[in-house]
Amino acid sequence: MKIICIGRNYAAHADEMKVERPQEPVVFMKPPSALLVNNKPFYYPEFTQNLHFEVELVYRIAKNGRHVQPEFAPAYLGELGIGIDFTARDLQAKLKKKGQPWEIAKGFDGSAPISEFISLDEVPDQNAIEFGLRKNDELVQKGNSKDMLFQPPELVTYVSQYFRLHMKDLIFSGTPSGVGPVQVGDELEAFIVTKAGEQSLLHCAIR
Ligand code: MG
Repeated sequence: MKIICIGRNYAAHADEMKVERPQEPVVFMKPPSALLVNNKPFYYPEFTQNLHFEVELVYRIAKNGRHVQPEFAPAYLGELGIGIDFTARDLQAKLKKKGQPWEIAKGFDGSAPISEFISLDEVPDQNAIEFGLRKNDELVQKGNSKDMLFQPPELVTYVSQYFRLHMKDLIFSGTPSGVGPVQVGDELEAFIVTKAGEQSLLHCAIR
């Protein structure tokens, strides 16, 4: 199982990070050991002083395939969940400056909390999915999938040129603006707006 992550997929987030809006998707991976499921607490790692949350819609791949052509890509998007792409921002900045891969800043143990998955039929408009993150009950990030620079089917087509997709692989589809730091004791709550209203799907306590 692979965890494929997309960086800089919302213009406003690229702007807040003071990086260029990409011409092609920015792709990186997290290992399966990064997953944190069942709303387990997250333990603040000792190697960072600036751990950031990034709330992201997560798509679970429904089919095996490679070189997926655009007309077939939507069928690969199985279910929808929400996750956090925890990032050791200080470590990432250091690595970026040296032009080195940033995996240790983003792929460490527990760096990918994910919710349960829901059917894409549960959202009012699959092309405009609203989601967000609350930190200690305060809304800190709010996104809409229509603002993605590369839409999920395009991501399937792009990524599958390089990596064969397998059922149950995950795509973290990028974070909207508003990323920020967490401290020990913080409580994070991530939600997706479904036909039934706002559904809080992921809870993550920082310990
Ligand atoms: Mg991210």
